[in-house]
Amino acid sequence: MKAIKDHGIEMIDIRMTDMPGMWQHISYPAQTFSQDSIDEGLGFDGSSIRGFKVINESDMLLVPDPATAFIDPFMGHKTLVMIADVKDPVTKEFYSRDPRGVAKKAEAYLKSTGIGDTAYFGPEAEFFVFDNVQYGTGQHYSSYSVDSAEGHWNTNRNEGPNLGYKIRPKEGYFPCPPNDTLHDLRAEMALTMIQIGLTVECQHHEVATAGQCEIDMKFDALLAMADHQMKYKYVVKNVARKYGKTATFMPKPLYGDNGSGMHCHMSIWKDGKPLFADATGYAGLSQLCKWYIGGLLRHAPALLAFAAPTTNSYRRLVPGYEAPVNLAWSLRNRSAACRIPMYSDSPKAKRVEFRCPDPSCNPYLAFAAMLMAGLDGIRNKIDPGEPVDKNIYDLPPEEAAEIKQVPGSLDAALAALEADHEFLLEGDVFTSDLIQTYIDYKRASEVDPIRLRPHPYEFFLYYDL
Ligand code: GLN
Ligand code: MG
Ligand code: MG
Ligand code: MG
Repeated sequence: MKAIKDHGIEMIDIRMTDMPGMWQHISYPAQTFSQDSIDEGLGFDGSSIRGFKVINESDMLLVPDPATAFIDPFMGHKTLVMIADVKDPVTKEFYSRDPRGVAKKAEAYLKSTGIGDTAYFGPEAEFFVFDNVQYGTGQHYSSYSVDSAEGHWNTNRNEGPNLGYKIRPKEGYFPCPPNDTLHDLRAEMALTMIQIGLTVECQHHEVATAGQCEIDMKFDALLAMADHQMKYKYVVKNVARKYGKTATFMPKPLYGDNGSGMHCHMSIWKDGKPLFADATGYAGLSQLCKWYIGGLLRHAPALLAFAAPTTNSYRRLVPGYEAPVNLAWSLRNRSAACRIPMYSDSPKAKRVEFRCPDPSCNPYLAFAAMLMAGLDGIRNKIDPGEPVDKNIYDLPPEEAAEIKQVPGSLDAALAALEADHEFLLEGDVFTSDLIQTYIDYKRASEVDPIRLRPHPYEFFLYYDL
């Protein structure tokens, strides 16, 4: 309340995340906002929020978390934003389908196991920036090919005669300007993130030809990092919009080029000490970390229903684009689902990088599910098997056949989640109700509408048969 006065705030904007992972918001003039609003919460109609309550029991409360406050850099009137938790006004309990509540419960569950007290997450979200071009005929999608005579798709270059400095196909990583035309845009995104309280480590162009970008934040604890990830996407999209461009976090917007991942680096700590390091272990990893990896790999098919949660996610998880396809672990190997980065010997830097997630995920649900899978691995001492340090694509077929693969579709991941979700129910972190609601929503709203629609490319293939 003091900050609202001190900064001359005119509007208070309260945000929450729906089940698919988009921010929703409702604004209050500062005059009508009081300490009670924070202590008791603000009423809203939850019936229209995707994945929330049915119409006959729709009253809900938003309880703002002041720790998440920032001054909005984009809104016209001086606006203080706070992320809120969702409560049931009758029972006064936190709502079991609120994704942020799931992340909170996951952190509490970690403490309750005694294994550790903090799970750190470092997600590396990638995204594409495009000019505001009207797509939609399907023409581009079916004709695009990196080695076609036309070269790469040119919609991201709108600078008249300067085309001699185009980034070559698959060489976006990462020449200097003038080839990299998005440097200043990413710099503004990064500096705006810093302005609202995020810690940014670096920004760069990514491998895909047409405007693929990455901005990396410093790791943080699970819930805080999920909040940061929501702020990150908000800044990226709004800075892009300011310059007449759009940013997309859909994992595979372009056929024939790299997709956008969100590799997640994870480690568990207790009493300020890292638990994933052991100088005598393979790649400097502790037994605890290996079991955590065992849990990630064992539950990966189910886990991906949250971490790679769109039909489009599975167009990314294919060979040839630095996205993982093998449910294996390895020192440095980028074709494996779990990689052990070797940049540093410091025990504090020991971590596992899970490469399957992509930035279309709801970070609260995805991070919570990853932690639950890893903890299940530790509790049940799940052996991740031998690390695979050779290039998996070069293995003889009989050896390669032994390595399990990521699911081939969202439909397959949802079926895996349906069959394997006990590990998520521990400590009531996820409820059966949430998991079933999620599966039903994804099938009815995403899998079926894609599966049942004639695809533009089918017209190219079949129209004249
Ligand atoms: N874009 C790749 C992916 O889809 C990752 C590329 C990289 O950061 N090495 O995961
Ligand atoms: Mg990176
Ligand atoms: Mg990257
Ligand atoms: Mg990475």
